[in-house]
Amino acid sequence: MEQLGLSNNPVRIAIVGSGPSGFYAADPLLKSETPVCMVDMFDRLPTPFGLVRGGVAPDHPKIRNVTRVYEKIAAKDRFRFFGNVTIGSDVTVPELQGFYDAIIFANGAETDRRLNIRGEDLLGSCTATSFVGWYNGHPDYRDHTFDLSQEVAVVIGLGNVAMDVARILAKTVDELRPTDIAQHAFEALSESRIREIHIIGRRGAAQAACTPQELKEMGELAACQPIVNPKDIDLGRLCKEELSDRNRKRNVELLTEYANAPDRNSPRKMRFHFLRSPVDIKGNGHVESIVLEKNHLIGTEAFQQRAVRSGEKIELSCGLVFRSIGYRGIPILDVPFDDQKGTIPNDRGRILINGAIMPGFYAVGWSKRGPSGVIGTNKPDSLETVERLLEDVDGLMQCPVRENRAIVQFLKKKRLRYVSLADWHKIDEAELARGAAVGKPRERFTRIEEMLRVIER
Ligand SMILES: Cc1cc2nc3c(=O)[nH]c(=O)nc-3n(C[C@H](O)[C@H](O)[C@H](O)COP(=O)(O)OP(=O)(O)OC[C@H]3O[C@@H](n4cnc5c(N)ncnc54)[C@H](O)[C@@H]3O)c2cc1C
Repeated sequence: MEQLGLSNNPVRIAIVGSGPSGFYAADPLLKSETPVCMVDMFDRLPTPFGLVRGGVAPDHPKIRNVTRVYEKIAAKDRFRFFGNVTIGSDVTVPELQGFYDAIIFANGAETDRRLNIRGEDLLGSCTATSFVGWYNGHPDYRDHTFDLSQEVAVVIGLGNVAMDVARILAKTVDELRPTDIAQHAFEALSESRIREIHIIGRRGAAQAACTPQELKEMGELAACQPIVNPKDIDLGRLCKEELSDRNRKRNVELLTEYANAPDRNSPRKMRFHFLRSPVDIKGNGHVESIVLEKNHLIGTEAFQQRAVRSGEKIELSCGLVFRSIGYRGIPILDVPFDDQKGTIPNDRGRILINGAIMPGFYAVGWSKRGPSGVIGTNKPDSLETVERLLEDVDGLMQCPVRENRAIVQFLKKKRLRYVSLADWHKIDEAELARGAAVGKPRERFTRIEEMLRVIER
């Protein structure tokens, strides 16, 4: 057998998932000269880029520009894209092992954590994932509906995603029009009657997980005023000590500005609630109210305080609840999964089964470490895994099929309509053209059939 990693026998690597972590893993692999590697990237969607396309808010276009970096990586020799192929069902992991020496799982964390409270599944109680996917035109959520005839919405969580959800609910038609928000969402939000958005944080103002930039944007909304109760920014000694962190300090400064601002008479209000946990969602078939329990912080050291329930409850009337308390992974058949953490068990990227290393199996990104960190966080994280893989090359078992065309023939034989990089570029161009025709940066296709039709043209 030829030595692995020479140019006539490159290390054959499959990456499952085309989000940031997948691309940040592909990049150093394609740059490696010893060993030489080739990368085939699979995604269950016909379109690449994971949450950069389907998560990042449409009114933050600069963040989406990172896809230009990924396009450059994809343009390299020895890289191929196979979209519209779900690993674990369309192609099983043992099948994939027939064609690759190593597999990197970059499949993200695609579902929400649950609150586990009564009423969570009432009509009108929704997940942030579904709302975000819906306004970004993710095919999974194309046909979801949100009752925007309600006047009061509650967003549970104070993290980045909660801020996106609240801000999109708060924006006017004129603010949303120039973005690449999916057309169906734009139309529904144009008719929205929401006038109160309550944001519920489990901990205090000094511990808000959102960034100062996100909080600042709330003060710049055209028709929505952020409202903060002055009592919430009357901080105790330990919370004041926590303001040594620059972001926390800036967050509290912004919240103080909002608390002191005069009433702008805005048609919409965004009310921040701190130290509150949802304990019950009430309603007869549909959400009518939410019960919140007051928390207080305990602990003797700054940055180590914990929120604990006080027993004191308040009830808030509302018609919509968006739960945004974190994401978790979805297991892939034949791949180990830690059900508690919602991640793939691993040691610095090497996948573990019952505590032992599973040779040739690696994880990166949100599936490796859980749903934390911004896009850039995935770069060093993926590099850590790639370094382990490159260390392991000499011990990898060479896959039996070493022909480049073999996977293509296999997918065709299975009648899987995979989407190549060239096919994706056709979809991309068509979306940009549709957008240009209506004065938007992009008008997405929101159904897989539509995307495939563009390719067939
Ligand atoms: C709503 C939201 C907004 C965000 N906004 C920002 C922001 O503004 N700025 C910022 O820096 N960060 C933001 N982030 C964080 C950032 O998006 C993540 O850090 C990053 O996307 C994680 O990358 P990943 O590759 O691990 O996962 P993902 O981006 O989720 O990619 C996973 C990919 O795997 C594919 N996949 C899943 N299962 C399979 C399977 N079985 N077979 C084949 N393919 C599969 C998926 O289709 C997807 O393309 C946001 C996150 C969310 C949820």
